[in-house]
Amino acid sequence: MQKMQNVNYSYWELDQYFKSFDLIVIGSGIVGLSTAISFREKNKKAQILVLEKGVLPSGASTKNAGFACFGSPTELLDDLKNMNEKNVWETVLMRWKGLEILRKRLGDKNLDFKPWGGYELFDSEREYEFCLENLDMLNRKISATLHLKNTYSDFKKNITQFKGIKGVILNRHEGQINTGNMMQNLISLAQEKHIRILNGISISAIHDESKQVKLQSDAGTFTAKKVVVATNGFAKQLLDVKDVKPARAQVLITKPIKNLKLKGTFHYHKGYYYFRNINDRILFGGGRNLEPETETTTEIALNENIQKNLDILLKEMILPGVKYEVEHRWSGIMGVGNEKKPIIEFVSKNVLAAVRMGGMGVAIGSLVGEIAAKKIKQS
Ligand SMILES: Cc1cc2nc3c(=O)[nH]c(=O)nc-3n(C[C@H](O)[C@H](O)[C@H](O)COP(=O)(O)OP(=O)(O)OC[C@H]3O[C@@H](n4cnc5c(N)ncnc54)[C@H](O)[C@@H]3O)c2cc1C
Repeated sequence: MQKMQNVNYSYWELDQYFKSFDLIVIGSGIVGLSTAISFREKNKKAQILVLEKGVLPSGASTKNAGFACFGSPTELLDDLKNMNEKNVWETVLMRWKGLEILRKRLGDKNLDFKPWGGYELFDSEREYEFCLENLDMLNRKISATLHLKNTYSDFKKNITQFKGIKGVILNRHEGQINTGNMMQNLISLAQEKHIRILNGISISAIHDESKQVKLQSDAGTFTAKKVVVATNGFAKQLLDVKDVKPARAQVLITKPIKNLKLKGTFHYHKGYYYFRNINDRILFGGGRNLEPETETTTEIALNENIQKNLDILLKEMILPGVKYEVEHRWSGIMGVGNEKKPIIEFVSKNVLAAVRMGGMGVAIGSLVGEIAAKKIKQS
């Protein structure tokens, strides 16, 4: 137990929260909580603490669209062009395995998981044709990697309600979850497993002193044998990690719409836009490609131009002729890099970074937590 300066903690508070922990996780998004839960599963008696700067988790895990997805054709074909092929399929497998862990851990009912498929919409005839030409190859690779049959199929004839859409490809193995349910159930599970979570604690510096790690914050100094930094888009504020930067994403949701027929998750324009149904509403996000520099920020705020662009696409492309009202808008912060594979590495003797989840952290996050916990246990 250490002496605190300027902070009037009681003996009891010091004993509960400022003793030395076996593991402290910074960040209570899906990766932080999954790391803590996976570590508990293998270490029944460990003292585990999760520290979160927000009153709620304040990055991406409570802000996302809830797509349970692992790869749309344009994204995979782009990645095959720009990344090492082995890494592309390993990342797809990680997303699939992550979803399996998440579904097993929390249960489909608790997640409100719906296997309604993922659709890629094309506004370019040329791109659609190119994807169709490569569909057999993608299906063979997915079959070899994930053991899933006939994943992608041409679906143009079945979907006609969107304006200006030249083609549609279905991924029949994708689905959707309720993001709020996922996070609330992860928090409850962590607490059931006697993992302490403190909100409103922003870590400002990490000192790895070889035998222990000291974490500085306005609320005092926390101490642990091992630390996992699961701060994703905020990683650079604490760590010297390369190739991970923040990427802000804009979202809106409509009020319930009468007789809404749309069901499933939809990617549009190379995945830069995405929408889905939820409780008779449309949730619609994206447009980061319009202002990539402005959106490379950790500031949670609305971008008026991008929100206006979402309004136009919603009215003209997604819901032409339908009466609706937008009820609410928000933004979230992702962690992205040139490489799509997450970083799960020690940055010093006792501090491990588990960051860079990209646009599919709901999928990959639980597996990243499992790998991070294993690496800590083995260290
Ligand atoms: C709008 C949007 C839509 C998305 N849609 C999808 C989707 O449909 N499907 C999908 O798979 N993925 C989606 N994603 C991506 C996915 O949400 C993320 O990849 C995932 O949530 C990342 O989880 P994480 O735990 O790594 O990071 P986060 O959830 O960002 O958690 C990091 C936490 O660290 C905390 N933190 C940061 N700095 C500090 C500090 N110094 N001290 C203490 N705490 C700190 C933050 O407050 C935050 O809560 C979307 C993301 C966004 C923003």
